[in-house]
Amino acid sequence: MTANTDHEMFNGLVQERRLVTAIPGPKSQALQARRTAAISAGVGATLPIFITKAAGGVVVDVDGNSLIDMGSGIAVTSVGNSNKEVVDRVVEQVNNFTHTCFMVTQYEGYVEVCEALNRLTPGDHEKRSALFNTGAEAVENAVKIARVYTKRQAVVVFEHGYHGRTNLTMAMTAKVAPYKQGFGPFAPEVYRMPLSYPSHDGLSGAEAAAHAISRMNKEIGAENIAAIVIEPIQGEGGFIVPAEGFLPALVKYSNDSGIVFVADEVQTGFCRTGNWFASEHEGIIPDLITTAKGIAGGLPLSAVTGRAEIMDSVHAGGLGGTYGGNPVACAAALGSIAAMEAEDLNAKAVRIEEIMKPRLAQIAADTGVISDIRGRGAMIAVEIMKKGTDEPDAEMTNKIAKACHANGVVVLTAGTYGNVLRFLPPLVMPEHLLEDALTIIEQQFKEATA
Ligand SMILES: *Cc1c(COP(=O)(O)O)cnc(C)c1O
Repeated sequence: MTANTDHEMFNGLVQERRLVTAIPGPKSQALQARRTAAISAGVGATLPIFITKAAGGVVVDVDGNSLIDMGSGIAVTSVGNSNKEVVDRVVEQVNNFTHTCFMVTQYEGYVEVCEALNRLTPGDHEKRSALFNTGAEAVENAVKIARVYTKRQAVVVFEHGYHGRTNLTMAMTAKVAPYKQGFGPFAPEVYRMPLSYPSHDGLSGAEAAAHAISRMNKEIGAENIAAIVIEPIQGEGGFIVPAEGFLPALVKYSNDSGIVFVADEVQTGFCRTGNWFASEHEGIIPDLITTAKGIAGGLPLSAVTGRAEIMDSVHAGGLGGTYGGNPVACAAALGSIAAMEAEDLNAKAVRIEEIMKPRLAQIAADTGVISDIRGRGAMIAVEIMKKGTDEPDAEMTNKIAKACHANGVVVLTAGTYGNVLRFLPPLVMPEHLLEDALTIIEQQFKEATA
């Protein structure tokens, strides 16, 4: 298997966009009817199709359609779906044992994943890690750890932030619909501060940070703040990259005030932005870092990694969970990390940005509805406004996304105003496939705005 040749196969699948029925086809429609009858209406889905096989940069549905995957299951299958390193290690582990509960009898895989996290995350200080199942669980545990360590309660989060769907992480998430609507009351002692949003607020990073810090001092009091939790690039919020200097100023404030600075890298981590972690782009060293999504090639695993003195401040038995650091998920993580290192997926993410940004700039120039092209590496988004205004256009965004789906390209939307089209291709996506996806995206923009 060689990278980026036109006829490359991944796990037996030709890397091509191929539509043999309308989307959804008849078999997907039949399954959709069963789904509606069997599954809670509260569980949404971006596309009404059902997948039988996926590899590299394509997903193949029950009707035989091969769609280009520009979402990676929300930044999860960064190493490509059914990546060989992941599959081989998972199969071997499943054959050996599937579960013991690490809190009962232990296994090496958990140790190895934590060693890898301690090595790969920013900073060469002494670190410890703990493993969980989901991103939300990692964020919850980071807050637990910060509260024990600081003996303080307040948690600071930011506008447009997304941290999960559990009670505490709903409280930490900014956007009400669909994530929080009707699900309150929410956990207390969570304070939301203004974010640096360069294309909207026009502030420098230092100015935006000074504003947020002044509010923290007046409204909460630094001495009451256990943790500042922030995504280095907002994910669900629409890939908002804060102005340069914003994150370093928050880190400095945290260090000066005894606050635990937590980078929520659940979406940005593991080569997604062209570095192992997005914190590295501005050279910040978080006290704690939460990871999940891209960590294990599709198996559920998450982690909190951070300064040894903070991580070790928790009493024995205070952290854990039945499945946290499941051996199969650990095997998958070790396979993913091996693939990222062997194939230099950071370089691939940078290359994806180099291909995508100029083509999106051309679409912006041709259609006049794109107000911002942003993100880093293989985490790229466009913000869509009504032509000639600064009014977010969620309707146009959805129309273009649906048209992309109908033409065999899986794209996702995002943003507080629902007007962001975001792209999270697998980092192993062959270039010809990426170019094909961009051509489809371009056509849908042109048709929708014609
Ligand atoms: C997805 C996400 C979460 C929640 O992860 P789950 O695995 O869905 O619980 C938390 N933080 C960020 C930044 C995310 O993107």
